[in-house]
Formats: sequence, C-alpha cells, structure tokens
Amino acid sequence: MTPIRAVKGMNDVLPAEIGRWHRVEAEFARTMQLHGFREVRTPYVESTRLFVGAIGEGTDVVEKEMYSFVHHDEPLTLRPEGTASAARAYVEHGVHKNEPVSRWYYVGPMFRGERPARGRYRQFHQVGAELFGDAGPASDAEMIDMIVSFLAAIGVRDSEVFINSLGGAGTRDRYRAALVSHLEPKKDKLSAESLRRLAINPLRILDSKAPADIEAVADAPTILDFLDNDDQAHFDETRRYLDALGTPYKVEPRLVRGLDYYTRTLFEIKAAKAILGAGDTVVGGGRYDNMIEGLGGPKVPAIGFAAGLERLLLASEATPETPVCDVFIAPHDKTGAPAMAAALVLARELRQQRVACEVETRPSSMKSQLRRANALNARLALIIGDAELSENTVTIKDLAGHTQDTVPRDRVVPIVVDRIVASESRAIAVDRGSPAKGNT
Ligand code: ATP
Ligand code: MG
Repeated sequence: MTPIRAVKGMNDVLPAEIGRWHRVEAEFARTMQLHGFREVRTPYVESTRLFVGAIGEGTDVVEKEMYSFVHHDEPLTLRPEGTASAARAYVEHGVHKNEPVSRWYYVGPMFRGERPARGRYRQFHQVGAELFGDAGPASDAEMIDMIVSFLAAIGVRDSEVFINSLGGAGTRDRYRAALVSHLEPKKDKLSAESLRRLAINPLRILDSKAPADIEAVADAPTILDFLDNDDQAHFDETRRYLDALGTPYKVEPRLVRGLDYYTRTLFEIKAAKAILGAGDTVVGGGRYDNMIEGLGGPKVPAIGFAAGLERLLLASEATPETPVCDVFIAPHDKTGAPAMAAALVLARELRQQRVACEVETRPSSMKSQLRRANALNARLALIIGDAELSENTVTIKDLAGHTQDTVPRDRVVPIVVDRIVASESRAIAVDRGSPAKGNT
C-alpha cells in the first residue's frame, strides 16, 4: 500500500521541534499577560458568511484561499484568520455590557488554500490579539510597542515596523475615487486581476506584486493626502506616542494589506528578507472600528494584529534546545527488580516537586543508560545500583559538570530540587507564563 502522507501545505510538528514552539508561545502569553490581555479560544470552523462579510469580497483570502464546504446545508469555512471569529464572539456574548475595554489574545491554527512555499502553508499558526473598546491612538502605539518587545524577547532581530493610516469611510471613498482616476488612463497596462479589481476593490491594486501594476501605481496619489482632520490627528498622535516610547517605525503610505476591514492605523512588521524571502512580513495588524457594528453589535472600536508562528520561528535566532527531562534515573542492579522499584518511587517523589524525570525502564547497560541521559539533555543522572541499594543512598551524576557524589536516600529529593532549580534551562520551563523558578 502507498503510505498515506500529510495534506500538502499542512505540516507535522514533531516532538524534536516542539520546544522552540513552546518557547515562542510561552513568551507570547507572557508578553500579552503583562499588558493585560487574556486568552480567548474560538472554534476552528465558522459560518462562511462571517468571513465573507468581515474580510470582504475582492480580497485574496475570500476570493481564493478559503477552505469552504457545505455540511447539512450549512455553508462553513475553516477559519483563515482570527479577528472575525473574535469579533463574532465579542458580539455574540455581549461582552461590551460587562466591561468597557476587552483585551484578548489567541494562538492557533489558521487555514488558507495558498501555494505552499517557505513560510507559507495551508495550515499555519497565528498568535494574535484584539483590543475592543478603545478608539484612542495611545492603544495603537502601545500595541505596536508590545509586539516589538515580544519580537525582541524571542530573538527576532532586524525587524522593521511600517505604519500607515487608511482613515475612515469618508477618506477611503475620496481616495478610492482619486486612485481610480489615476489608474483609468493606464488600465490597458494593468494585470488582468488588477483590471477586475479596479471596479470592485481598487485599493488592493496597491498590494499587487505584478510588475505592470507596480509601475502603474508608482506615481499614484497616496491615501495620506486624503485624511480628514480627525484621521490626521489620530495618525499624528499615534506617531507621537511611538516616538515617546522610542519605538522605531517607517511611514509607508502605500501599505494597504489584504483584508478589507481596516480603518485608520494599519501596520506591518517585516523581518530580514535574507531569512524569510518573499514572505518577509511576520506581523500584520490595524484598527477596525466598524467591524463590531457591521456584525450586528454595538458601535465599539477595535484594533488587533496577527503574527505567523512559523515565520516567527524562522526569523527568531536559534533558541536553545529544551531538555526532554531534568533528571534521568538509571536503576542498575544484578536482578533489576529492587532497583527498578526504587527508581519508580524516587521518580514519583521528584515529579511531585515539579522535576521532570525519565526512568530507564528497559534492561540496559549503565553505559547505554548514560548515553540516553545525554541524548535527552538531562541535567542529572541518578544511579541506583547494588551499592546504593545496600547503603540506602543514590549517586548523583552531573552530566554537564562531569562530577558525581553519593547522597543519603532521604536527602536526595531536596538536593536534586536545589540543583535543578539553580540550572537555567529546564524541561518544564514552559509553564504557560509563570516563571519556572521557585515552584517547589
Ligand atoms: P502575505 O502577504 O504574506 O500573504 P497576509 O497579508 O495574507 O500575508 P495576514 O492575513 O495579515 O497575512 O496574516 C498575518 C500574518 O500571518 C502574516 O504576516 C504571516 O506572518 C502569517 N501568514 C499569513 N498567511 C500565511 C500562510 N499561508 N502561511 C504562513 N503564515 C502566514
Ligand atoms: Mg496572504
């Protein structure tokens, strides 16, 4: 039989790689919690109508990338992004009635039927956040600064922040008209795709990567020239707060991004092209002040962002390998049975103190047991052999320091806990946001 393979563009993350994922996810959770955000979990499947309405027709996502299907007459879609679902949940649960401002973050898989490439997959993962209930520019600047500190914490170097403002509906209409009159005379030169979009969604042409389109929009007017006074003041203040925070950014007046729901502040963060190639954007976000109302909710402004986890992992400097366990326990006596029982009991005592242990449960030589302890990156190996059993002791071998000492059995747990807590890299350092130190 031909072996069954994973679906193209959908990847396994094997245990050997998961340590890096956990580190990035834990750092994300930590950063979000430090800023008052709490996690939300929404379903992976939603009504197709939600995405078509919120993301907008004439966008790549809705036109070409959604995994949609009909189940018992109900049109459904695997979520291609997180904002529409979060906004739907916010409205559905009437969250605005309980609190004026809500800060939510999420982590999870998204699905888009794109052509797979480096950093571009059909099932990929995003970390993201939404802030509901604050229209002010201080939250725009703080969100951008929060993402920049997260990127620094996970070792993404050379990232660059680009910001723009799309203004409100009035601004967008005026700019749309100006852009169309700029492009009309050049329309023979546009790509077929952009020609079609000229009628339905002309701003998307600014995002086109086709050389003919890039040339046609090169001297087009920019949206920043069309902002009304309130939009302009919002943009200026956002910049002032970013300046006060010392967060570097560049104004990119042609930044429009792929989703239709944005208003006012829009931003994108790119990492080094050398690592990511064409998909060098790691973070995209912006304000969407009209979405909640558009979904039938109250008039509540919002801003959010999403970052691709796979791209963050590609862009972040090699994080150290996480040990699989802190302590490896090697039972070793002539008959096997008493040492094994002693090892199982000791392992359970250590695990109760939050020390990750693996017991060698297969019969094997001391040499191969220590080889395995090293392969697991364990910090300590505990040896229980004939001598230890008869003297009621345990031998502690420091695998990095290449030292060893024998301690009384009734002292071994506190001694091991002390040494493990003192070491920097721990198997269970991923404690969903709470520091690993001192949790004995
Ligand atoms: P791109 O221009 O690269 O297609 P996008 O504008 O479609 O990105 P968003 O919808 O803003 O992306 O999603 C935010 C982030 O999610 C992106 O910056 C990227 O890091 C990640 N992302 C988007 N699509 C994919 C994908 N197919 N595979 C992996 N990561 C993705
Ligand atoms: Mg895309």
